[in-house]
Amino acid sequence: MLLKRYIIIGIALALSLNLSSQQIYKRTLILMGSRFDISVIANDSIQAAGHIDLAIGEISRIEDMISSWDPNSQTSDINRNAGIQPVRVDAELYSLIERAIGISQLTDGAFDITYASMDKIWKFDGSMTEMPSEDIVKSNVSKVGYHNIELNKDNSTVFLKLTGMKIGFGAIGKGYAADMAKVLLEQKGVPGGIINASGDMNTWGKQPNGDDWKVAITNPLNKKNSFALLPIKEGAVVTSGNYEKFVTFNGKRYTHIIDPRTGYPSTGIISVTVFAPKAELADALATSVFVMGAEVGLSRINQLPKVECIIIDDQGDIHASENIQINNL
Ligand code: ADP
Ligand code: MG
Repeated sequence: MLLKRYIIIGIALALSLNLSSQQIYKRTLILMGSRFDISVIANDSIQAAGHIDLAIGEISRIEDMISSWDPNSQTSDINRNAGIQPVRVDAELYSLIERAIGISQLTDGAFDITYASMDKIWKFDGSMTEMPSEDIVKSNVSKVGYHNIELNKDNSTVFLKLTGMKIGFGAIGKGYAADMAKVLLEQKGVPGGIINASGDMNTWGKQPNGDDWKVAITNPLNKKNSFALLPIKEGAVVTSGNYEKFVTFNGKRYTHIIDPRTGYPSTGIISVTVFAPKAELADALATSVFVMGAEVGLSRINQLPKVECIIIDDQGDIHASENIQINNL
């Protein structure tokens, strides 16, 4: 299942003494290859269904734009033309790529949408039977590097300079979609809700009883003692973990998050949860911390305003950023 197993993020939807007629309505479905739970506050089920449909339309629209599996997407067009020619794209995709490059700079390249040329080498769908050879990893990692994405703002074009280069939005797309769906519903006057994209959660407003939305965080390695119910105000919380997509060779687990510097899956961390004002940033940073490792990752997160994180390493140790009270976990 796509449900996060190790850190389970649940939302306390139980409302006590709800005196208003407003209620939370929720629908679950698969979008972008992942489970989405969309919850909105509405007066009745018909109003709620209308709003949830709008959110679904918005997420599907984004999926059509950024999917690298769909040959008709603008993203596939960029990839097909790697090493050949610049491709003109919509302003929306252009700015998403611009922001992705910004996050690469912020994380010293730990986050890199050009990781995607490694997709040919590392497959996490069960089809891999042996470790890829060092030579293959080496030759493919030479195609990874956000410096080789050439943007031209005047023409709104994107050019991947090297033949065989490829971009993919696996570590930022769900967060972006969750942000956009939230903005749309806010514009439509929906007073509150949660877009939960397989653990990438974005909230706005409050629960009908006036309380903040809350996320429950459980550390499965220490279930009884490690528990926190944290309020989130107008923000996002995202978890990346290596427990869903991975391959095992010789007893070692290789996760789907690739270190762009080496071309090998990153190791040492089991899960990363990031709190940030926007899901896009939280999503990208959660992936980045995996690559940076606990120590570097934490110090980077501590430099960012309004961003917090909780890391569980492969020894079961919990590391938290400065404003999270580790004792309460
Ligand atoms: P989750 O599957 O839990 O949502 P992430 O948000 O961390 O996990 O995204 C992981 C996905 O991001 C991978 O499946 C892959 O598509 C992509 N990816 C892997 N390594 C990197 C990286 N270093 N930078 C950017 N994207 C990456
Ligand atoms: Mg991510």
